[in-house]
Amino acid sequence: MKIICVGRNYAAHARELNNAVEEEPVIFMKPETALIPARQPFFIPDHAEDFHFETELVVRINKVGKHIEERFAHRYYDEVSLGIDFTARDTQSKLKSKGLPWELSKGFDGSAPVGTFIPLQRLNKSVQDLRFTLHVNGEVRQSGHTADMIFSVDRIIAFVSAYFTLKIGDYIFTGTPEGVGKVQAGDQLIAELEGERLLNLAVR
Ligand code: MG
Repeated sequence: MKIICVGRNYAAHARELNNAVEEEPVIFMKPETALIPARQPFFIPDHAEDFHFETELVVRINKVGKHIEERFAHRYYDEVSLGIDFTARDTQSKLKSKGLPWELSKGFDGSAPVGTFIPLQRLNKSVQDLRFTLHVNGEVRQSGHTADMIFSVDRIIAFVSAYFTLKIGDYIFTGTPEGVGKVQAGDQLIAELEGERLLNLAVR
């Protein structure tokens, strides 16, 4: 499986990192080894100093597809969850300044914990009408609404499927709202979608 990620998909987050709002989605990928098995902690690696959480809606692809038209894209997923796009911000800043790829800062082991998936049908809401929050040690640090995405889930699927065949079980991380911040050993991260706790992750 593959993990496709969108960067700068919420204008307020693009602004907080001094990035432009893009005309096309910014796409990068993480390898399967970025996942964290259920109930395992995120162990802070020693290859950087400044690891940030980015809480994101994650869509699970349920059908093989390529060159998917936006109007048919909703047929390619029916479950969503929340994930953390862990980012070594110091490494990423160095790579960005040199115009180099981001993988070392975003694709390392454990950089993509994903919570429990729930059927969209159970939420009985549009994928573009979902609220989500991240609590760190009991305090709300990120609060997002999928209506604020610059590129909708269906637009993202149409865009990426022109380049990469989507396969069953692939994940799409759809970008983070503002409020990203540094994690420290001992932190407890809890992500909720529409009030439902989907991810509970210890940082060690
Ligand atoms: Mg992100």
